[in-house]
Amino acid sequence: MWQEIEIMMELTLYNSLKREKQVFKPMNPKRVTMYNCGPTVYSYAHIGNARAAVVADVLFRVLRHIYGEDHVVYARNLTDVDDKIIAAAKELGVPISEITEKYTKIYQDDLAALNCLPPTSEPKATEHIGGMIALIKTLIKDGYAYESDGHVFFDVSKYDDYGKLSGNTLDALKKGDRVGEGEVARKKNPADFVLWKPELDGVGWDAPFGRGRPGWHIECSAMAKSELGETIDIHCGGVDLKFPHHENEIAQSNCAHGKPMANYWVHNEFLNMGKDKMSKSLGNIVLVHDLLEEWDGEVIRLALLKAHYRSELIWSEDLLKESKAQLDGWYRYLKEHDNKETDFLVFNHPIFDDLNTIEAIVVFNDFDDFSGVAVQTANLLGLLTKDPEEWFRGQGKEGGLTDAEIDDLITERAEVRAQKNWARADEIRDVFAEENIILEDGKDGTTWRRG
Ligand code: AMP
Ligand code: ZN
Repeated sequence: MWQEIEIMMELTLYNSLKREKQVFKPMNPKRVTMYNCGPTVYSYAHIGNARAAVVADVLFRVLRHIYGEDHVVYARNLTDVDDKIIAAAKELGVPISEITEKYTKIYQDDLAALNCLPPTSEPKATEHIGGMIALIKTLIKDGYAYESDGHVFFDVSKYDDYGKLSGNTLDALKKGDRVGEGEVARKKNPADFVLWKPELDGVGWDAPFGRGRPGWHIECSAMAKSELGETIDIHCGGVDLKFPHHENEIAQSNCAHGKPMANYWVHNEFLNMGKDKMSKSLGNIVLVHDLLEEWDGEVIRLALLKAHYRSELIWSEDLLKESKAQLDGWYRYLKEHDNKETDFLVFNHPIFDDLNTIEAIVVFNDFDDFSGVAVQTANLLGLLTKDPEEWFRGQGKEGGLTDAEIDDLITERAEVRAQKNWARADEIRDVFAEENIILEDGKDGTTWRRG
C-alpha cells in the first residue's frame, strides 16, 4: 500500500538542463534542497519578479506536501551588494546597508502578502564573502580562473560543458561580448566572466587577489553551497537568468566541486506587458506594493497562477478582476457550506504534473466537487487560506472605517431604528454606502462585508 501511495505522489518537473520532463528524484528524501535566485534589494519588486517567487513557492509547498514540512530546505538569497546598490547609496549619501535593509523588509512583506511562505533560509551576499573568496581561490588554484588587473575572471575555455544549459556555444559567444563589456581588454576570451572586481566607492573586502567585491554569479554558487550543499536537488529562477547567470553558476560550481551544481533546473517564463517582458529597463513595471493597496494578496496570487509557469503570462487588470470574482465565489461557497475535512487525495492530481496550476484550478472550479479536497488543493497553491468571514470583510481601505467602527455603527443603527430615529438611521446607511459596505440582515442579526 505504501509503495502505491508513493507512486501516486510522483512529481514530474521539466528540467531545463535536460530539456525534458522528468520524474523528480531527490538525492535524500529526508532533506530535499531547492535554491532560488532572489532579488537585488535596492528597489520595489514588480509583479514579474513576484511571478518567479510565487512559482518557487508553489514548488516549495508541493515538495513539503510530498516529503514533509521538515524535509525540504529552501534557500532564496538576497543580493545586497551590487553596482546599482552602491550607486543608489552614493547618491543618497548613506551606507549600502540602509538601502538594502529597507528593501529587504519591503520584499519580504510584499511576498508574505502574496502568501509566499518564508524560505528556510535567506542568505545575504555580504555575509558570505568568505565563502566566495574560498571558491575563487579554488578556481584559481585548479586553473579555471585567472587574475588580471585587480580582477579575477573565469576562463570559459577550461569548462567543456559551458553553454549546455542555455544552448550557447563558445563560438557564438566570441562574436559578441555581452558579458561585462568594458572588461574585454583584461580577458583571455570575450566570454570569460568576472568573479572578483576592485573596490568601488569604499565598498570592498580584503582578499588574496586584492581588496574588492564579488561578481554577481559567484554569490549564488557560494550561498547555494553554504546553505544547501555542493549539489542541490532543484535550482529555480526566471528564464532570463539561464544565461549568463545560471550558466556561470554551473561553470563555477562544477569546476570548483567536481560535481553538478543542481540536478534539476526549473525556469519560469516571463510575465509580459503586451508583447514585452515586464522589466525595469523598459519602464513598464507594475509594483507588487502598489497592487496590494487595491487588491488582496490572494487575488494577485491567483492572477499570477493563471498561466502555466512555462508559458508567458500577459498581465492585465482584467486578470485581477476575474481572480477576485473567482475567489469571491469560492469563499461564498465556503461560507454557506460546511467544509468537511477530508484526507488529501493525490491520485493523478495535476499539480504533481510539472506544477499544472491551471488544471488544478479547473478541478476546484467545479462547485459540485467543491469539497475538502478542493480546499486542500487550493491551500497547496497558497489560496483560500482565510476564513470566509475575514475574506468578505477585506482589509479595509486606508482612512476608511475600521472593523470595530463598523460593528459600533451597526449596533447604533439597530438602536436608532428601534427608537424610530429615521434621520440617523439614514445617515448611517449613507456612510455604509459611501464606504461600499454591504449589510446582510439575517435571523442571527446583521452581518457585513466590504463590497
Ligand atoms: P531580478 O531582480 O531582475 O534579478 O529578478 C528576480 C527574479 O525575477 C528572477 O528570477 C528573474 O528571472 C525574475 N523576473 C524578472 N522579470 C521577470 C518577468 N517579467 N517575468 C517573470 N520573471 C521575471
Ligand atoms: Zn543566482
